[in-house]
Amino acid sequence: MKGVVFAGDRRIALMDFPDPTPGPDDVVLEIRASGMCGSDLKYYRAPAGGTAALGFAKGIQGPIIRGHEPCGVVAAVGSNVSAKQARVGQRVMQHHYRGCGVCPQCSTGWMQLCDDGVDEVYGTTGHGGHARYMRCPARTLVPLPDELSFETGAAISCGTGTAWGALHRLGLQGDHTIAIFGQGPVGLSATQLASAMGARVIALDTSPERLARAKEFGAELLINPKQTNDVLGAIRDATHGRGAHLSLDASSSPQARRQAVQCVRTWGKACYVGEGDTVTIEVSPDMLRRQVTIIGSWTFSTVGQAECARFIADRGIEVDKLFTHRWTLEQADEAYRLFDRQTAGKGVILPN
Ligand SMILES: [Zn+2]
Ligand SMILES: [Zn+2]
Repeated sequence: MKGVVFAGDRRIALMDFPDPTPGPDDVVLEIRASGMCGSDLKYYRAPAGGTAALGFAKGIQGPIIRGHEPCGVVAAVGSNVSAKQARVGQRVMQHHYRGCGVCPQCSTGWMQLCDDGVDEVYGTTGHGGHARYMRCPARTLVPLPDELSFETGAAISCGTGTAWGALHRLGLQGDHTIAIFGQGPVGLSATQLASAMGARVIALDTSPERLARAKEFGAELLINPKQTNDVLGAIRDATHGRGAHLSLDASSSPQARRQAVQCVRTWGKACYVGEGDTVTIEVSPDMLRRQVTIIGSWTFSTVGQAECARFIADRGIEVDKLFTHRWTLEQADEAYRLFDRQTAGKGVILPN
């Protein structure tokens, strides 16, 4: 089968790999949708071999098939896999991490936080979903509700699920106003989910296209920091001078991160989900003397992934609308070149 590989410096290679067969505890998925996530861009842009420096404890062997939002149908099961775990033909999402499976983090569905260090991040250090087939342990599967499309399942498997996880970490309530910095796939999902939960959303982005989409997805106030001298003043004006109850940074911009802390009211909470880069805050005025809580949030557990999917199905949330572009494997080069500009919506690869 063909698999999409990042060859370094924004180059894509479509390489040959053997069709996978399941080990005793594994399944093989026939991939029906494999989403593109903003966190892939740093690996896509890195020089050849640069993806080895990922901050993950365990190394990479050879070229890796990308795509860490895999969704599809179980095509084969290993000899130890019970019918309760997985059946051929079952519609599933995949939680894209493998840990030891038994430590306190793994056994509560947080395999990315494994006490022994995560063994594999699918699509980053292990083969992911940008191919016709993908092998993974049965314990990494999360059932896809019948009401949801494979594309929605792909989005939930990283970008949308990450937004869900952050809103839960923040304790969002329907009477809250939340400022969401960055309206790429994660920030836009947070706008959509927070609006569905009843909250008022202030959306920020430097791209007019992305702001227009945020409005469609439920944002009440749009702020473009490139065109607004006083971002904090605009947020205060919209909140009776107090500031937002909550904020979420999905941009990873140092300035946005600082403003995400500064824009919340006394006792407010700011959450960081954007990866990479840094932030400088003045601890006393920005945080300490206003009782502000800063939270880091990394994706979600298998349990959270299932809950997110259930919420989206029950409320009829149109997650498919996140996707502005659908691509074949052969179009992966064009797909990532467009995504790299960070003005379009989310893309998805449909390999089968
Ligand atoms: Zn573990
Ligand atoms: Zn991701």
